[in-house]
Amino acid sequence: MLLNQRCTTCRERVTTTDQVKCETCGNHLHSECETFETNYECPRCSDELWVGAVEF
Ligand SMILES: [Zn+2]
Ligand SMILES: [Zn+2]
Repeated sequence: MLLNQRCTTCRERVTTTDQVKCETCGNHLHSECETFETNYECPRCSDELWVGAVEF
């Protein structure tokens, strides 16, 4: 997931060209970390382990 244009997985700065939109939950993800995030971080992809608190 992205927080202030930063990837919460690898903590790198993510430009718009490196963003991908998760088709399941609609969150923007770092393209390089998409697989990891959809497996572990996405609130809906990972079966809603936590309630999404981030509003865009
Ligand atoms: Zn990342
Ligand atoms: Zn998702």
